[in-house]
Amino acid sequence: MPELPEVETIVNQLNHLLPGRRIASTWIGWERIVDRPAVGEFCQRLTGQVFASASRRGKFLLFALCSSDTLIVHLRMTGSLQVHPAACAPDKHTHAVMMMDNGQALHYRDPRKFGRLYLVDEPAEVVGRLGPEPLANDFDVATLACELGGRRARVKSLLLDQRVVAGLGNIYADEALFRAGIHPLRLGSSLTPGELARLRDGICSVLKQAVEAGGSTLRDYRSVGGQVGGFQERLEVFRQNGKPCPVCGAQLERIRVGGRSTHFCPHCQPPQGIRVQDKD
Ligand SMILES: [Zn+2]
Repeated sequence: MPELPEVETIVNQLNHLLPGRRIASTWIGWERIVDRPAVGEFCQRLTGQVFASASRRGKFLLFALCSSDTLIVHLRMTGSLQVHPAACAPDKHTHAVMMMDNGQALHYRDPRKFGRLYLVDEPAEVVGRLGPEPLANDFDVATLACELGGRRARVKSLLLDQRVVAGLGNIYADEALFRAGIHPLRLGSSLTPGELARLRDGICSVLKQAVEAGGSTLRDYRSVGGQVGGFQERLEVFRQNGKPCPVCGAQLERIRVGGRSTHFCPHCQPPQGIRVQDKD
């Protein structure tokens, strides 16, 4: 599933392709892909609009249009956006096509159909409850301490909660906790100031490096041009269970935390601070 680095990569690519392009027509092949407004209004309002710029909030893509409207896309598990020549017919997994005025078309493709499109005049009604942006300049230790401190939930689950930190998913939460040397079952409230500082640095460093590498492709993710990412080669713990830890050589393990597969090093991420009755 695309996380912050993958969505950021798509946004950067679309910012070279979309600004200034007018939407000549809008086709929806599967109506439930449109969350709001109703499909008829969605198509009518979108057609004729001009793309201004693309941006990202958490895992959402936001396309500012030259009216006051914003087109918002959430790719969820298997969604992708691609630009094709207008003559390119949508395949069976393509659920929306926006024909543009330059002979190209923006395709929304999603085999599992969990993604959603929104057309709103107030983006906050879709993205308003998201937590802080981890790549923003003001994402510091105090911000992270404010989100995690006092929370009696496991740090792995907290990192996946989009209201706590926006944009992290299963891959980068595991990688950030490994970099910080924090066991995924630790409670948010148990983290020391030093651990919070290491976690903040781990989140920022892994996300920045993954953006620079064009994201990670584990199965479905492709960028706008159909390319795979480059960061999957550099994942240190995610789906590496059974292999030696790249730091200490201990065998990496996998457990479930809040129903999600979680990968860690039992030596570099010691379980101190976990009370016996807290263990799953
Ligand atoms: Zn280790």
